[in-house]
Amino acid sequence: MTHTRGNFAFTDPPFKDGDTVRGGNFSQHTPGTEICKDVTRLVIEAGNYVNCVPQPGWTVRGGNWAQISRCTHLMDTIPKGMQECADNCSHRSATVQDVQITREEAAKLKTSAKAYVESERPDKDGLGEKVFTERKYVYADKVTQVGRPDRWPKEAAIGELER
Ligand SMILES: [Zn+2]
Repeated sequence: MTHTRGNFAFTDPPFKDGDTVRGGNFSQHTPGTEICKDVTRLVIEAGNYVNCVPQPGWTVRGGNWAQISRCTHLMDTIPKGMQECADNCSHRSATVQDVQITREEAAKLKTSAKAYVESERPDKDGLGEKVFTERKYVYADKVTQVGRPDRWPKEAAIGELER
């Protein structure tokens, strides 16, 4: 069978021995995830295989095989089955960012015992206007490999993907 499309992200793809894959999304949550452990013969020409690792007998001629460690702090919704990052996860940068927030957001932080800074600046009428600033950590996804698996370099993290 030849597969040309379909979204099988975060599941084990429905490949069988002797299949050819020319497209579709088969990406996984976690870098280094082996897919289709019982399939020994497969030809892959294209498709999205982010965080997938092919089986040794497969012929890989194309596709996106980047390995990306994704940070759940950057997600609106966390995909099913993916573990939520801790506050001090490996994606957290040493730098912090001051982000202006609304009075309502500051009030919420107050109740959750998180830190914010309250300051005053003159508004357009020259009167004091309250400004609320939250000190936030910066998180980034980490790209650990790019390109096809047979060309992956040996080094670990080769860069960070900023959003
Ligand atoms: Zn993280």
